[in-house]
Parts: sequence; C-alpha cells; structure tokens
Amino acid sequence: MPELPEVETTRRGIAPVLENQCITSVSVRDRRLRWPVSKTFAEDLIGQRITGVSRRAKYLLITLERGTLLWHLGMSGSLRVLPNGSPAQAHDHIDVELSSGRMLRFNDPRRFGCALWLLGDPHQHELLSHLGPEPLSDDFDAEYLAAKARKRSVAIKQFIMNAEIVVGVGNIYASEALFRAGIRPERAAGRIKPDEFKRLTHSIKLVLAAAIKVGGTTLRDYVNASGAPGYFRQKLFVYERGGEPCRNCKTPIVQITQGNRSTYYCPGCQR
Ligand SMILES: [Zn+2]
Repeated sequence: MPELPEVETTRRGIAPVLENQCITSVSVRDRRLRWPVSKTFAEDLIGQRITGVSRRAKYLLITLERGTLLWHLGMSGSLRVLPNGSPAQAHDHIDVELSSGRMLRFNDPRRFGCALWLLGDPHQHELLSHLGPEPLSDDFDAEYLAAKARKRSVAIKQFIMNAEIVVGVGNIYASEALFRAGIRPERAAGRIKPDEFKRLTHSIKLVLAAAIKVGGTTLRDYVNASGAPGYFRQKLFVYERGGEPCRNCKTPIVQITQGNRSTYYCPGCQR
C-alpha cells in the first residue's frame, strides 16, 4: 500500500511534468473507483492549466485554474508519466493528456483509489478537514503530541497512527519510530514522558524523511507508487523481524497484535 513517502515521491516525480501544462484530453475507462469518477470529469478538466501539485496526508492535490483534482492512490494505485496515446493495459483507468505530449496515467487493480474534482478550498473538504498536522511540518512537535496525549489511555502506537493526531504514520513507520525512540508500543499515550515525546517526534520525522529520500532517488520518467517502495530499501530494525536478533542488543524481536495490526519491538531497547 502506498504510504506517505511513496505519495510524496510520486508528487515530486509528477510535479515538474504537470506544472504549467494545459489538459488537452481526458479518458476515463472505468469510473468505478472508491467513489465513482463524475460523468463530467473530462469536460471539467479539459482546457484548464495546471498551476501546482501539492500533497496533504496521502492525497495528491493537483491545482488547476478553477478548482482542484484530489487524487488518492488507495491500496494499489500508481500514477505514471507516458507519451500521449500510449496503449492502455489492464487496470489503466484514467489518462490525463497534456499539451507537452505527455500524459498522466492512473492504474489501480483494486480500485480503492479515487479522483475527485473539487471547487473551492480543498482543505475544507470532509476528506481533509479533520486531519492532524503533517509529520514533517513544524506544527508537529513534542509539545503538540504531549498536549494531545494528556489523559489518553490508548496505546502510543495506535495513538500516533491516528490521522486526526498526525497524518502519514503507517504501521511500518510507527514500529520503526518507536524502536528508535526506545518506547514500548503498548504503553498508554498519556504516560509517555516529555523527553520521550521529543525522541518520538524526532524519530517519526527521521524515518519518514529517510524513506522519502530513498524513494526520490529511484525516480525517472516512470513514477511508481505501488512497486518498489522506498521503505524496503531502508534498513528496518524491527518491522517483520519477529524472532530475529535486535540489530542493537541481540535480544529477539517480539511480535504482538494491536488493533488487528502486527507490531514489532525489542524488549531490550524499548521501555
Ligand atoms: Zn534491542
């Protein structure tokens, strides 16, 4: 599943291709995405110039002269840049052709992604308006997280994976950040100490920034958010290493289940 680093990598790949281009043609082969693609999707877009490509959580925001295209890659989606008219393969649901002769092609075998055309401020849309801060922004720091965690008994791992607290901390990054911060994942969020919140916010930023950096180096004309994602190249300390020796202290890594998700931690390094 594309996580925040893959979506940011995709954004960095497609932004220079899309910006300042006019949309000349739009093909929708299958409207049945997570939410149906609107019947007027093509006519709403054609003739408009793309003024910017940004990201909020795992949503890509393609800003046009009038309105915004809100794109989510879902479980299995990817956006590729190809020459206009390239033959479509299975699961290639949407093409957006540009005046440069290149196009943005959306492929999504499981169809959990979406492409929504919005007028007005996209950040007020119900999909975005309740989201917590971006993890790599200055708004996300130890003081913010400590204030949100006050009197909360929820486990710290589930707490940092809640998008209303902070966006983009997926299962892998939560386990890895808690390892680096030396915090056991089952501890109550409200019992974490101020210096631990400092280490935790720093670790979350570190693992996400490292994954984005790696993702960015593999990018060429082909932008793939569901193939070789950045985190597989990152050296993982605990994720999917149950029973294997800790890279730091040699204690076997423990695997537990929290909220139907696997969690991994080192009983030697994490308190
Ligand atoms: Zn250890």
